[in-house]
Amino acid sequence: MVSEPYSVCVYCSASVDDPAALELSRLVGAEIGRRGWQLVSGGGHVSMMGAVATAARAAGAKTVGVIPKKLVHREMADVESDELIVTDSMRERKQIMDERADAFLTLPGGLGTLEELFETWTGGYLGMHDKPVVVLDLDGHYRGLFAWLEQLRERGFAGRAALERVVLTDDLAAAFDALDPGL
Ligand code: AMP
Repeated sequence: MVSEPYSVCVYCSASVDDPAALELSRLVGAEIGRRGWQLVSGGGHVSMMGAVATAARAAGAKTVGVIPKKLVHREMADVESDELIVTDSMRERKQIMDERADAFLTLPGGLGTLEELFETWTGGYLGMHDKPVVVLDLDGHYRGLFAWLEQLRERGFAGRAALERVVLTDDLAAAFDALDPGL
């Protein structure tokens, strides 16, 4: 059996077209390819999601897209994916993305991205999986969120160990090193 390359699931916006966000997406995709890893993504060809996948393929990475059939048009299914999995539901999408990933990387995003980040993060601190959960935040997109989470810790709503289960960094290389604990 041929073993799969190390697989990183990237969560990010499927709506913005901000040049800095797209450039970050391209850098991340290129780094996945440079490291010989595989990308697991939401399978859309739009916005940051599309930019990560396109850059990853251009850098030689295999890409796996997982998209619910209801979003095939809205998020323009990434038909160039090496593997495009069309699911019946959002839940199935997330489950397959989780199963196929060795690590999770979150870039700037909106509600959908937050939902995915929190699911993998909480699963990690509850011991459901031991895969790295990393947030790459170059421009302070998540600063307010993490400041508020720190307040939750001070008020007893979140534990220190739970908060430390995620690696938050503004450095691309540090993010990738955290994604691969074998380094
Ligand atoms: P957003 O951060 O809102 O731009 O969304 C980023 C991606 O998350 C998009 O591909 C959405 O389809 C996806 N998404 C939104 N809600 C969910 C959900 N409940 N489960 C899985 N993916 C979702």
